[in-house]
Amino acid sequence: MNKLCFVIPCFNEEEVLAVTITKLLQKMDSLEAKGMVSPESRITLVDDGSTDGTWSVIREYHQKHERIEGIKLSRNRGHQYALLAGLLTVKDNFDVVVTMDADLQDDIEAVDKMLEAYVQGAEIVYGVRSRRQSDTFFKRFTAESFYKLMHLMGVELVFNHADFRLLSQRALNCLAEYKEANLFLRGIIPLIGFKTDIVEYERHERFAGETKYPLKKMLNIAADGITSFSIKPLRFIFVLGLVIFILSIIMSVYFFLLHYQGKTVPGWTTIVMTVWAIGVLQLLSIGVVGEYVGKLYLEAKQRPRYFIEAYLRRDN
Ligand code: UDP
Ligand code: MG
Repeated sequence: MNKLCFVIPCFNEEEVLAVTITKLLQKMDSLEAKGMVSPESRITLVDDGSTDGTWSVIREYHQKHERIEGIKLSRNRGHQYALLAGLLTVKDNFDVVVTMDADLQDDIEAVDKMLEAYVQGAEIVYGVRSRRQSDTFFKRFTAESFYKLMHLMGVELVFNHADFRLLSQRALNCLAEYKEANLFLRGIIPLIGFKTDIVEYERHERFAGETKYPLKKMLNIAADGITSFSIKPLRFIFVLGLVIFILSIIMSVYFFLLHYQGKTVPGWTTIVMTVWAIGVLQLLSIGVVGEYVGKLYLEAKQRPRYFIEAYLRRDN
């Protein structure tokens, strides 16, 4: 039977943790009763350097329940790193892992469907929110613009999927091969491949405490997402150079016309054309440098180049 682990990042979540843990324990018991997970399944809470009583709550529950485990990071590293720390720490001990936020905004009832998809052979199951009604207009607007911008930049993302997902041990082992320091899991996980599936759910409001993702952090994660996955901004310089090059040819014709019609003062045509020519030259040169920087950037990541899904062979 499948050994399941819930991995929950927690940053200053003492207000919600007791309720969250109780609900997760109930969920785990019901999954076990239905024969969907093995009795050794666990709940791992990752304390991301909280400054409130989060760690004492985790410790207390760990003493009371054998299912509850805790990992404490040495300081606050942010949601993505807390998740990764949890995943990589538990990956060898479980068949399958589900990640979820500590505020249980994601619907834990969707876990049953995720596990069913896993049993059907999916290595990664994305939780996708079907509606965004519980969000304020501002949050919805910024979040949706974010997905559109990422798409424009060529970053492959699952629309309306945050970090509520199931990963098999195999997918986790692949994830461990990504050594990059700038972490944006939502961008990396679709790169892994294998059979994947989607489970829709409705997202609730946070039942206590407040969001740990103010606008500043959202902008940070968007900037990280783009600059860690896309060299399009670098390419853009070169394209801009080309556009201005074409524009400069048109302008040159115009400047010559003015010159021959005698509508200019002496020296003006030369100066203006030099300004345009040097501008174009500079943009194009920066664009060329950008291409090389882009290559270096992709190499520096040392990403795994492929994963093998199946290997058909005879023994001899
Ligand atoms: N979180 C974390 N470290 C941080 C910020 C947030 O581990 O520096 C956790 C937080 O405890 C929660 C999850 O990341 O479990 C998502 O945060 P939150 O619910 O505040 O974000 P929102 O749902 O408002 O986008
Ligand atoms: Mg939340």
